[in-house]
Amino acid sequence: MRPGFKKAAIYAAVISAAIGAEIAILHLCFDREDEEAPQAMCWPVMGTVAQMTSRKHVDELEFGELYARVQASYSRVEKLLSAWNPESELSRLSAAGCTNWTEAASPEVRPCYKAALRLAEESGGAFNPRIGEKLRALGMGRGRYSRFDLGAIAKGFAVDMAAEEVERAMGGRYFSFLLDLGGNLRAVGAGEWRTGVRNPFRGVDASQPDICAVIMLLGGESVATSGNYERFVEKDGKRLSHILDGRTGEHVSGIAGVTVVTPREYGATLADGLSTTLFVMGPEAGAAFLKRFYPLALALWIPDDPASPRIIVTPDMAYRLERIEWPAEKTR
Ligand code: FAD
Ligand code: MG
Repeated sequence: MRPGFKKAAIYAAVISAAIGAEIAILHLCFDREDEEAPQAMCWPVMGTVAQMTSRKHVDELEFGELYARVQASYSRVEKLLSAWNPESELSRLSAAGCTNWTEAASPEVRPCYKAALRLAEESGGAFNPRIGEKLRALGMGRGRYSRFDLGAIAKGFAVDMAAEEVERAMGGRYFSFLLDLGGNLRAVGAGEWRTGVRNPFRGVDASQPDICAVIMLLGGESVATSGNYERFVEKDGKRLSHILDGRTGEHVSGIAGVTVVTPREYGATLADGLSTTLFVMGPEAGAAFLKRFYPLALALWIPDDPASPRIIVTPDMAYRLERIEWPAEKTR
């Protein structure tokens, strides 16, 4: 096993075991022999794990400074947008009965509220940031303090903010970083990265592969995954997803996982928001939705059918897949 990959893989394994976080994507940074071992840093934040990996060796001191900027950026977002913290700005505005979120919120996070409200409108409510009360009604509100919930989009937003910090700090020099916040990834700078899509059925059948597909990510692109295999409640032996249909408040069933790749102009914010939206909509309505509103996004669905595992992809996603374990169908 290559030294760089070994270090990164050990990092991911140790941290995820330690915190049991939802790393839906294992990033493999082993494709270019001539590179020094990548530098990587992992830390817990937002109830999950963040990781920052640099392919091109940067001075240790500088890597430490960049890590500190990214970490500070995530902490700021957490303070402002966490539904899990009663003292966060989001929870305090919610408790105060706020209705004009895009005016009342701090300027630096207003774009996140705007993106959430725009997705809600475009998706006819399938994506619904006012999901907090519905989650509570279903007994999934424990530890949450807000009716307005940005859990489906704020991690992607935090990654975009951090990517801007890194780009500002690195200026015109050559650089190649991968930011990962709980399965929301963005390739910052030059170079390609390979990301593995987690097999949602591995938990129910240990004989299945851990990864069901590998996606190639280009510099500037983002990828996010939503799934029912990390966060769910069990009722009458049935697994109920933490993702609800925002139009009905019902648990979504029939889909085990969705992975979305977005170009630089859409960013990690939309990758995160779209993965939740497409999880609710499913492949047919989801593909039509992308064609209409986000034609540059690529998507992959895994139907919740462990007996005959397969994937459904939008046509252009097929060109990004480097290794597929199961039969693949294309959406129209
Ligand atoms: P996604 O698909 O991206 O989001 C699913 C989440 O979105 C659900 O959990 C629900 O909150 C919400 N949602 C469900 N259905 C819909 C819908 N139709 N439309 C819109 N939203 C919907 N977790 C903790 O356990 N402890 C913490 O302290 C904590 N702090 C956090 C702080 C912040 C700022 C954020 C953003 C998240 C935090 N989390 C915390 C949540 C955690 O990170 C979850 O992973 C996250 O909410 C689920 O994201 P996901 O990527 O798995 O799924
Ligand atoms: Mg999401």
